Amino acid sequence: NKQVIFKDYFTGFPKESDMYLTTSTIKLKVPEGSNGVLLKNLYLSCDPVMRILMQRVVPKGFSNYTPGSAGDLVWGSARWEEYSLITATEGLRKITHSDVPLSYYTGLLGMPGMTAYAGFHEVCSPKKGEYVFVSAASGAVGQLVGQFAKLLGCYVVGSAGSKEKVDLLKNKFGFDDAFNYKEEHDLDAALKRYFPEGIDIYFENVGGETLDAVLLNMRVHGRIAVCGMISQYNLDQPEGVKNLMCLIYKRIHMTGFTVRDYYHLYPKFLDTVLPYIKEGKIAYVEDIAEGLESGPAALVGLFSGRNIGYYYHLYPKF
Ligand code: NDP
Repeated sequence: NKQVIFKDYFTGFPKESDMYLTTSTIKLKVPEGSNGVLLKNLYLSCDPVMRILMQRVVPKGFSNYTPGSAGDLVWGSARWEEYSLITATEGLRKITHSDVPLSYYTGLLGMPGMTAYAGFHEVCSPKKGEYVFVSAASGAVGQLVGQFAKLLGCYVVGSAGSKEKVDLLKNKFGFDDAFNYKEEHDLDAALKRYFPEGIDIYFENVGGETLDAVLLNMRVHGRIAVCGMISQYNLDQPEGVKNLMCLIYKRIHMTGFTVRDYYHLYPKFLDTVLPYIKEGKIAYVEDIAEGLESGPAALVGLFSGRNIGYYYHLYPKF
């Protein structure tokens, strides 16, 4: 059983050398009397949250990696390995719609898709015509948030870290506008240019100076859904946010959330999103890293923006 193992808890940016590839010869067997399952992993995802689980102390509510009948297709949490023995099967969901690419269950129809759907529709209380800003907008979650917002009739602008990604946002995902935040020396001025009337909804994926600039540009009664703060994950001391008083002046609702609180909505999510996929109303860009050996570089690449679209990690041997 080929596996990617991470060596030890670390601080700072992840390096490929923090992980290694190994092959275990231990025969995996579901313990008799348990209702565990043995999974053959067809597609494995590569998510920023993995970095959070690689630190010694994980935030309260997180635990190090969570996860029918024989032959079922399922999705859920597993380790980066060819086969996974899962004893707590509550976290596995049976795939009942296999007429879409199965890899979608690591992205569009899996955890990132649910995050975008719940974060936007449940946390942001969006209304038609509102002004929406999404950071890390070309990524797994961001590309969907923008498209959900467009489907509702919002005005949507995204930020991303390269020209290629900005083109993707405008030409493939249908954002009204997009900009490369790495080329903007003054994010506050950039946001004023893209949102002369201010921002109603900010879908927060990056934190740090982006959040500070956004706070200055929020409208009264605006909403900020705090999904992630990837710019902070590798810092020993998270950066301070200077403009939090805007929350008071502008009566802004700023709400953190995790997708795990919303899985009860998964059937509703599928009923909404599957027709969008079939009718071509949603586009989804995947970035494929082939083979378990390329997993560590893929994970490191998330923090320099090397992925274009959603990173998933394909094990092609089967
Ligand atoms: P992405 O596919 O968006 O990949 C991460 C992207 O973040 C990179 O491609 C890069 O894009 C951008 N990035 C990396 N470092 C920085 C930085 N220092 N400043 C600004 N941007 C940066 O990842 P996901 O869509 O999977 O995740 C997006 C966010 O959502 C993350 O913060 C993640 O932790 C969070 N999340 C939260 C969940 C929840 O339940 N709350 C569930 C899933 C994800 P670029 O080239 O544009 O810089």
